[in-house]
Amino acid sequence: MKHIFRAFSKKVDGVFIGGCHFNECNYITHGNYHALNMVLLTKKLLEYIGINPDRLRIRVMSGAEGALYAEHVNKFNARIKELGPLGGDSDSKSLEEIQAGIAKLSAQIPYIKIMTREKLGKKQDVTDDSVEYFTGEEIDSLLNKKIAYYIDPAKCQACMACARRCPVGAVISAKGQVHIIEQDKCIRCGSCEAGCPDRFAAISKLEAGATVPPPPPEDQRAIVKKAKESAG
Ligand code: SF4
Ligand code: SF4
Repeated sequence: MKHIFRAFSKKVDGVFIGGCHFNECNYITHGNYHALNMVLLTKKLLEYIGINPDRLRIRVMSGAEGALYAEHVNKFNARIKELGPLGGDSDSKSLEEIQAGIAKLSAQIPYIKIMTREKLGKKQDVTDDSVEYFTGEEIDSLLNKKIAYYIDPAKCQACMACARRCPVGAVISAKGQVHIIEQDKCIRCGSCEAGCPDRFAAISKLEAGATVPPPPPEDQRAIVKKAKESAG
């Protein structure tokens, strides 16, 4: 997905992906099934940000099928010529809007992959372009009703374990200060929740679409030590 978005961010007019025939993979991973599902998901995401999904196509063939490869590429090329340049009449948004959409979605790729993991892993070998494996409603809900992780300021003890575990630096961390999750940066991987010591249990997972409470103002982030609380 990352490579496809990168290609469109460089203003290419189409991306063609060639894979091996299904059930002929030399590796136990059967990566071509995964690639197919990933393409079907990415087509819906392209549509969401205003790119005509026909600009992305996957076809399968073997290394011995040169003529078939040429046929697929020629057909794709002809379709792209019909569509014209990216951001033109065949797309629902302008090039500038498309580029902004790509930038926004690219930052969410890890989250998108986590949330669609189960469906991406299924084996299905339909390359018919009319198949809607991921629906528009699913994509809308995926991008607009996100789950969220939240640190309860009353429970956080500033042990910093969450900040150390976060793979994208989304936890604002300072010594002796309540930690804060930057929702715009967070990819919802859940590592911080798993890493918060049980005795603090300060991080919770909020249901999809729930409103995340605002963080405390900067001058009110000093933690209240548990020991001091019990002594008082
Ligand atoms: S869920 Fe936690 S660890 Fe994962 S990205 Fe968000 S803040 Fe970082
Ligand atoms: S791991 Fe838990 S207690 Fe420690 S800083 Fe993060 S939220 Fe606070």
